[in-house]
Amino acid sequence: MARVISGSETTNFRQEQASLDEQTKKRGERLKPLVRKAIEGLSENFDTELANRFDALPIAYDYSGCLLLRDTGEVSTLGFVEGARPRVVDDVRPYLGVLTNLQKRYPEISQILRERPVSGVDCSECNGTGKNRWNLKCGPCHSLGWTTNYPLTFCSSGTPRKRGAP
Ligand SMILES: [Zn+2]
Repeated sequence: MARVISGSETTNFRQEQASLDEQTKKRGERLKPLVRKAIEGLSENFDTELANRFDALPIAYDYSGCLLLRDTGEVSTLGFVEGARPRVVDDVRPYLGVLTNLQKRYPEISQILRERPVSGVDCSECNGTGKNRWNLKCGPCHSLGWTTNYPLTFCSSGTPRKRGAP
């Protein structure tokens, strides 16, 4: 079941937020060398150009733009229009599906990004297995097995966060 935060849980929320921040910080430290190594290993001209220009690893593309991952764990979007600048993503939850597709190319980075946050709960659709009843990838949790009601980032500083909870 998705967790609903009630007013009486404010203290719990604060504690949970503190451990979430701690987890985010540790994750950022582990990501740093992996992202740097991945940037150095880029061979596609377009990837290299983006990486050099924005000091970030291009991790996904679609027709309108791409997703960039900095070595701090900061995720940003970049539109493919003249003069576009990266926009920092305050909450990566909408991009978890895309991030899970990194497994093949960057298994270690993908593994870190897929880790269940302390705020995560078992996905109610698949009971935490990541597979639906036909044994296929679970849609709601992108086969992660967990979901979270909290905004999620992989970066502990420099990212402005909007918090919907008390
Ligand atoms: Zn699921």
